[in-house]
Amino acid sequence: MGAIVTVGCQWGDEGKGKIIDVIAQEADCIVRHQGGNNAGHSLRIGDQDYVLHLIPSGILYPGRRCIIGAGVVLDPLVLWEEITHLRSRGVAVSPENLMISGNASLILSYHRLLDGLDEEARGAARVGTTRRGIGPAYMDKVGRLSLRVFDLIDADRFRERLRPVLQHKNRVLSQVYGHAPVNYDEMLATYLPMGEKLAPFVGDEVPELNAAIDAGKRVLFEGAQGALLDVTYGTYPYVTSSSTGAGGACTGAGVGPTKVEKVLGIAKAYTTRVGEGPFPTEADPATADLIRNAGPIGEFGATTGRPRRCGWFDVPLIRRSVMASGVTHLALTRLDILSEVSIIKVCVGYRLGRHRLEVAPADAALLSQVEPEYEEIPTWGVDLSGITNEADLPSGAREYLRRLEDWVGRPIQMVSVGPGRRQTIIRAESLFS
Ligand code: GDP
Repeated sequence: MGAIVTVGCQWGDEGKGKIIDVIAQEADCIVRHQGGNNAGHSLRIGDQDYVLHLIPSGILYPGRRCIIGAGVVLDPLVLWEEITHLRSRGVAVSPENLMISGNASLILSYHRLLDGLDEEARGAARVGTTRRGIGPAYMDKVGRLSLRVFDLIDADRFRERLRPVLQHKNRVLSQVYGHAPVNYDEMLATYLPMGEKLAPFVGDEVPELNAAIDAGKRVLFEGAQGALLDVTYGTYPYVTSSSTGAGGACTGAGVGPTKVEKVLGIAKAYTTRVGEGPFPTEADPATADLIRNAGPIGEFGATTGRPRRCGWFDVPLIRRSVMASGVTHLALTRLDILSEVSIIKVCVGYRLGRHRLEVAPADAALLSQVEPEYEEIPTWGVDLSGITNEADLPSGAREYLRRLEDWVGRPIQMVSVGPGRRQTIIRAESLFS
């Protein structure tokens, strides 16, 4: 078995970090391929919590090769801080176990500045960005204005490429936003030392990854955000700026789709969403509050601390993600949270006027008009967080899994019942088979 791509099937925050961490135990190489430091995977290892924004979670295992692909937009200051922080906690991070693609586009100070200014200027067209410069950095990538990691590690090239780009950015800053310019020399003073520090990590992921897969190495592509936030197929405009679906692994890490053997869709046992946009199965405020505060780690953003909107499992939405990413298997997370609610509902279809929809509509405007059709599932009311064998699950929880598999049409291979590594039921001999 070669490569597994993991993809969040909802609006992000599905618990991908934990699932990826468990699979990473079996992997040789772990790859991040899209997004930037707007993602935040939270991991609990023993009694230690880690939040990783850029570096693949495989870094926490000795001997794994971690790669940041060219599809990522990379803030060198944030990456260096993450490396330093991990090292201060005793995690080895070196060019032996971490490689950064030289073709990754940089997030620089003016991207962060423009992210905030642009969001303010949009008024009612705001999308709720994290203001970390991710959107403007992707705009520059597509607009062919990016400076890349290869530029950063060559001081002369950085000086030369930055000058005209910064002149252009400063015209936008002053003429569009009435903002003071960004100083060229200050940027050099900030970023050139970063280039020196990061240079030993820089490489070319294309030959390395293709050779690894061809040699039978187990390669894990870790998705950030969720399929419904995909810039093309998500609930536009309330999406992120990158391709979060499984195809993003190919375009963001330089491997072809023929190399991907399995796509693992990760979904929570219910649904959450951050920020604006339609959410058909959003629960009433009291139930949403219950779900949000249940369990050891509530539904609040790992990176932003924002409370998440909470609601029921939405089969039509998952079916859409399964199709758009070619999901072959599922991992279900946070099943333990449902022990605390007094009814469990699952949306199995939508009504839209006289029509019944099995799959969420492509148009986000229609998604805000659909009426969910619910089925109620018997509750189990038993704490699941200590269960590691499927046979020990209460019959209600097993029934829930069986019915979700039927509705979605894909086998659930992993069930997570808590944030810890061991709080996982694995329903397969090997995750790479
Ligand atoms: P990600 O970005 O998809 O990795 O998701 P987040 O890190 O934002 O949110 C998932 C949170 O839930 C993290 O704090 C995880 O440690 C935690 N978590 C993951 N799986 C489970 C689970 O099965 N049960 C509980 N209670 N928490 C979980």
